[in-house]
Parts: sequence; C-alpha cells; structure tokens
Amino acid sequence: MFKDLYRRLTVMNALILIAFLLIFSYSIVGFTNSTFDASAKRALLGRTTQIQDVVDRFGVLEFTLPDDNGETGGDSQSDYTRIDYIIWDENLKLANLSSLRDGLLDQAYIQAQETMTSRDGNHGTIFLNGLKYRIYNLYATRSNGSPYVIQVYQSRVIDDLVIRQIFLIVMGIGTASLLFLILISAHMAKKSLEPVRIAYERQKEFIADASHELRTPLTIIKTTAELLGMKEEETIAKNAHWLENITGETETMSRMIENLLILAQADNNQIPVVMEKVDVTALVKNVGDKFQPIAKEKQLQLDSIVSDNVHMTGDRDKLNQLIMILVDNSIKYTPPGGCITLSLMHTTDKVIITVKDTGIGMAQEELDRIFERFYRVDKARSREQGGSGLGLSIARWIIEEHRGKIHVNSTPEEGSTFTVELPKKHKGRD
Ligand code: ADP
Repeated sequence: MFKDLYRRLTVMNALILIAFLLIFSYSIVGFTNSTFDASAKRALLGRTTQIQDVVDRFGVLEFTLPDDNGETGGDSQSDYTRIDYIIWDENLKLANLSSLRDGLLDQAYIQAQETMTSRDGNHGTIFLNGLKYRIYNLYATRSNGSPYVIQVYQSRVIDDLVIRQIFLIVMGIGTASLLFLILISAHMAKKSLEPVRIAYERQKEFIADASHELRTPLTIIKTTAELLGMKEEETIAKNAHWLENITGETETMSRMIENLLILAQADNNQIPVVMEKVDVTALVKNVGDKFQPIAKEKQLQLDSIVSDNVHMTGDRDKLNQLIMILVDNSIKYTPPGGCITLSLMHTTDKVIITVKDTGIGMAQEELDRIFERFYRVDKARSREQGGSGLGLSIARWIIEEHRGKIHVNSTPEEGSTFTVELPKKHKGRD
C-alpha cells in the first residue's frame, strides 16, 4: 500500500516539476521572441519612414538608399541584419528593389496586392532560400495622390538562432535540475511517508496484540461460565472460587482496556499534558505510603528515601502514575521476604527517582524489550500478578512527555533498579 502511495507521490511530483519546467522554458522563449519581434518591427517601421520621406521629397519611386549602416550593398554577414526594400507603383509594377533574391518577388507581389487592396500596413513573413524573413508592407500615397506600396524585410536568422540557443540552454539546465529535483522529491516523499508507515504498522500490530491479549481472559470467563452452567443445582457459596475467577479476569480486562485507551490516545496526542509546579517530594512519599499495606501483605519491605523540597514542572497525575507503575512492578516481581527501595534525589536541573528491588530480575537481552507494548518476560507470571504488559509502555510515554530518560539495571534472581531522570524545567514538545 505504501509502495504504491510512494510511487504515485513521486510521479505526481515529477509531473508537476515537468509542467513547471515547460512553462518556465516557454515563458523565457516567448518573452525573448516578443522582445526581438518588437525591436525588429521598430527597425522595419523606421526604414519605411525613411523611404516615405525620400519619395515625398523627390517625388520618385526609383532611387538607391544606403543601407542602415550607411553603406550601399553589403557583404554576406550583413545580409542577416540588413533591411532591404521593394517598392510597387499604383499598377503594382515593380518600381524599386534594393536586392534581388530567389523567390522574393513572387511572395512579395502577393503581399503587395493584399496591401494595395486593404490600403493599410501589415506585418508578415516570407521564406527565401529556406530562411525566414520578417516583412512589413505599407500602403502610401505620393504627393500627386497616386498610391504605392513599400515593403521592407529583414532576415530573422540571428533572432531564431539566439532563441533556439536560449531554449536549448534553458531545457538543458532545466532537465538536469529536473532529474535532480525528481531524485530529491522521491527521497522527500519516502521520508515524509515513513512516519505514517511506521504509525500504520504500529497501529496494526497494536490491534493484533490487543485482540490476542483480550482473548485469554475472555476464554477463561467463557469456560468458567460454562462450567458454572453445568453446576445449576449447586449453591453460589460452593462455587465462589469460580465466580472470583470471573471477577478477577474481568478486572484484568478492564485494566487492560483502560491502558490500551491511554496508549491509543497518547499515539494521537489526544491526552492533555498539564504542566504545573509539582512537589515531587510529596508525590513520592504519597506513593510510598499508598503501597505500604500492599507490600506488607506480600511480606515485602518497602523503604522510601526521599529528599526534601524537590520541585519540578510536570504533569502531577502522570508523574504519580509513572511512580506507581514502577513501584507496582517491583512489588509484583519480588518474592516474599524481598526488599524495595523507592528513592528521590535531585541536582540543580534534574530530578532522579529510583525504584530498586531484590526481585526476580531480568536477563540483559530483555531490558530493551520490556518497554514494548504487551512484552512480558514471563507471560504467565505477569498474568498471575494481574499484569497486562502495558505498564512500562505508559511509563515510557510519560517520561518522553517530560523529556526525561529511564535506565534499567537488572540481574536475574538478584533484582532490578529502574532509574528515571526528569528535567526540572519543562522544555515543551519538539
Ligand atoms: P506488566 O503488566 O506485565 O507488569 P509492564 O509493561 O509493566 O507489564 O512490564 C513488562 C515486563 O517487564 C513485565 O511483564 C516483567 O516481565 C518485566 N518487569 C517489569 N518490571 C520488573 C521488575 N521490577 N522486575 C522484574 N521484571 C520486571
């Protein structure tokens, strides 16, 4: 799905860039062409005015005018720039001609005829020896009232050559930059799609894991209910154990759904994080006090070593949840007789919370994975303790929201130490 999207995005970007290149090239060529055209038309008009002046002054159509540079005749070089002229009298008989070229008179005669009929001035094109010329036809009248047609024409070889060169240069540079831009845009498309792809894959995995995890308690509830169904005539008191089973599994499920909801909302940045001044000393002490009876019940010693007057900017509820997850885990994974130490220290800019236990510990290779959703070192043991494999994922999200770090040190059969470092001042989201 993403490969197709990536391909489509790259093709779309490439098409936009090609369209842009073509529009850009044609605009430059069009602009240059119209500039050349305007300047050539001005020159042709100037030449007709010169000719009209001579006719008006001397009253004749037969004369020889020097060329634009003041020279009569010209070498082949100036053929490309020289403006030649033809004059036709009132009967459309050739009256004057500055230079004779193959096929010139046939084409010029047709345009002269049209000009004589329209009694106007107009610009046109003629082809001589395969080369294009601009021609300007002007209807004029002599002082005795008889009409005549002046035609001035100039080769556009140089203009066309320059325009072609400009077009080739623009296309050359354009194509090279286009290839470069397409490569960049393909890379950018891939880069911009990557987070979407990762989020999508994660979401897919998450849904698959969640359904799988919810299936276990549901199966237990179903089989227990079926079992109870077979003992219709027995009293509820006699089957209290099975009912407790159902209640326990229901609690596990609702805890899991609650945690799933938190993570799903966290993924979509839907959970508001309220940053305020938090008395971390009070917070840590409070969590320690709350867990004291649970620890006692499990025959665990829970010690709190808490520095006074530690404050930071953070979300009070989330920080409370974070410490509770770590202490809850240490209680869950420490066998009776063990010891748990919850401590709070601080530096000028950091708050350091440590939860140390003498529990079952974990192998080194597990440490990177325990923050993954639904990952549990010992699935059965976690389930037995009411765990869902989501606590540390939530803890990591809370730490990330506070721009903090978590570090785990653990040895199997000896115990684990979770160390959380949080900046005292919140720097905001990236
Ligand atoms: P759970 O609900 O299973 O406790 P967590 O995400 O909180 O899920 O923890 C993931 C896994 O990490 C646990 O299943 C357990 O295997 C391991 N773990 C977490 N804390 C400890 C600890 N203090 N000692 C040993 N193992 C731990």
